[in-house]
Amino acid sequence: MQHNDVRIEVLPQSVVEKIAAGEVIDRPASVLKELIENSIDAEATKIDIVIEDSGFSLLQVSDNGIGMSRENLSKSLLAHATSKIRSMEDLFAVSTMGFRGEALASVAAVSRLTIASSTLHDGLGQVVTCQGGAPKPPQPVSHVRGTSVACRDLFFNVPARKKFMKSRKSERIALLRLVEQLAIPFPAIHFTAVFEGKKVFEVPAADTLVARISQVAGSNFAATLTRAQGSTPGMEATLFFPLSDDGGLRPRYQYLYVNLRRVDSESVMYAVREAFAKLVRRDYRPSYFCFIDVDPDQIDVNVHPTKQKIKFEKERELFGFIHGIVSRALGAALQTSSAHSPSMPPISNTAHSIEADLFERTTKPYEEIRATGPGSLVEEENSVGLSDHTVLPFPTNVGDPEKDLDSPPDDRIQLAHDHAEQWSLISCYQVHETYILAPIKNGILLIDQHAAHERILFEQALTDLEVGKATSQQLLFPVILQLSATEKAVVESAGAFFQSFGFDMQDFGGTTISVSAIPAFMKNSDAERSARDMIHYLLEEKSVGAFPDPRKRFAAAFACGAAIKAGQKLSQEEMNGLLNSLFSTHTPYTCPHGRPTVVRISLDELSRRFLR
Ligand code: ADP
Ligand code: MG
Repeated sequence: MQHNDVRIEVLPQSVVEKIAAGEVIDRPASVLKELIENSIDAEATKIDIVIEDSGFSLLQVSDNGIGMSRENLSKSLLAHATSKIRSMEDLFAVSTMGFRGEALASVAAVSRLTIASSTLHDGLGQVVTCQGGAPKPPQPVSHVRGTSVACRDLFFNVPARKKFMKSRKSERIALLRLVEQLAIPFPAIHFTAVFEGKKVFEVPAADTLVARISQVAGSNFAATLTRAQGSTPGMEATLFFPLSDDGGLRPRYQYLYVNLRRVDSESVMYAVREAFAKLVRRDYRPSYFCFIDVDPDQIDVNVHPTKQKIKFEKERELFGFIHGIVSRALGAALQTSSAHSPSMPPISNTAHSIEADLFERTTKPYEEIRATGPGSLVEEENSVGLSDHTVLPFPTNVGDPEKDLDSPPDDRIQLAHDHAEQWSLISCYQVHETYILAPIKNGILLIDQHAAHERILFEQALTDLEVGKATSQQLLFPVILQLSATEKAVVESAGAFFQSFGFDMQDFGGTTISVSAIPAFMKNSDAERSARDMIHYLLEEKSVGAFPDPRKRFAAAFACGAAIKAGQKLSQEEMNGLLNSLFSTHTPYTCPHGRPTVVRISLDELSRRFLR
């Protein structure tokens, strides 16, 4: 080795800038976020967005905010130039969206940037351009009060980054979703978005948060929302969640805003989920919108480069606080619904008061609890080891789970071969409307009905994609689905896949679609739920990571959305049919995501447990 050659050199400024820019600006969506946030900080009441080529050729944001003077305009592109903080103390009391003064400089380093702005209503302004280097001096231009920023040819001087970008389709969906997320907490701002020459989103100024949610998510959804509110010293929270059976496994929304900034917090998510878990199925995932106002000194917004995560001073208290607010609101809502209030549809089929429920659940015999209806089944705290009350983190699969699981351990294979022919003869029992219990020669099998059906449908879907079109049934009355702009974009980008599975979906104006045919095996009543589940599966960022191959990803989405759910009652024939199909699949022991479908308990193990 030639150690003599090693020499430390300070990188040229242009390279340093690009490295720094890469931390903040890693995709078109991060540029758009910074530009919209700047417009919000500038007190705009109208923000217009234009996107071309998924943001790679053009990302433009125009606002009618306070604008910039000639002097500010030339400074705005400098690194760490900001009008929003002045000192270290300010850093801990930030109320604006941006504050580091690095966004525009970072965007300028990796694109061709043009900013035109005016502080006056006289139609005169200044424009500055920057081509990945030093900005040119501002020039006069005609511009109404406000600012227009156009970012062209993003990453033109960073070829490596461009290569690693996700597909144009998923980037477009990410951009649209970002616009919706940013628009929600600012109902007073009128937003429009034109993507590839087509207006895909418009929300005029609205009076309330619910009105804005209604504009984004549809009036049917907004009508099911209930409001909950609470405060504790230094913190105030308002939540909206639907009291209808919307969510299931994949909620439409789980949005948290802290001081109007969209962030993620596991404490809030688990607090809401746990509050619901006392009343409905444990695996139910409610949608919610949560707005928290907190003293800036109780949080640290400076822990993450894109400000997506924040740290709460008192994470535990936050959990208890949110949990309390949601539990009280749920209790009140359910009490109202037992008095047949039309505005609040009950979660369970048989509405009854939360107190009675909590009180009786340890004393009522199991059969009685069961008889109160499927949705209201309250599980015993320490019932059969199947319903584990501790919340387990979702298993994260690296790469394609299908690959590693093609060959199950030998004894499992044995088990399938012994019984493949005989499933129709076995009496099965359904447990908690979630699991199937089947006696086998050497013990018992427990099958997760949803996971098992997912496996079956996943393999079926892959075959359907090969063939082109599955058998579908025409609906007598088409199902009309109110979607958000993002959801509609998903349906459009996946149109061919939906069709291969047997769906017939048509544009119904605005962001609404009509479904006139569904896969042959599906029940009419499942059409909406299944379609929504598929859309939300595809919207989850982790689905891309789990299945880089789009065919498998869509097959997994289909399997997940169309599979029988936990909580669905099955007849003896249905259970036998399910087991038959499961054990004729290629990989019966795991669902497409790698979770087990079957648990076997051997007679030996049972003997051991009973100390025989
Ligand atoms: P930050 O938002 O963190 O201050 P930026 O680099 O995003 O940093 O912006 C730098 C400065 O440029 C801002 O502080 C603000 O004064 C000005 N600016 C940027 N965008 C706008 C806009 N749309 N309207 C008015 N001023 C703007
Ligand atoms: Mg900014």
